[in-house]
Amino acid sequence: MERTKALIAAHRRAIAEKQQQKQELEAEQSRHMDSIRLYVFNYIVANPDKLHQNTVFECQATAVPTSPDDLELDGWECPTSPTGECVYNDVADPMLDYCLFCGEPYERK
Ligand SMILES: [Zn+2]
Repeated sequence: MERTKALIAAHRRAIAEKQQQKQELEAEQSRHMDSIRLYVFNYIVANPDKLHQNTVFECQATAVPTSPDDLELDGWECPTSPTGECVYNDVADPMLDYCLFCGEPYERK
């Protein structure tokens, strides 16, 4: 019985340790995503000419992000994006219809 209790306690400690590691990993991932958002935001501010023409000429007032937090990064391959992946302005374009660099939507068949 004591042995069972000790085993259960050991498992609980192991679970608590894994949960702690998971939280630390998620916090680290979040910091990395913030760094990438900041990098892309600074790139956009420094290179407005690199934005997709639809963005620049049709939706510039709303589509150019005002903060790195506005950016939604998506896994679609994007040849003109500085990260190689599509980037959306989640605030001005919540349906993610225009990638800021290639103009393609998030939803694709
Ligand atoms: Zn794109």
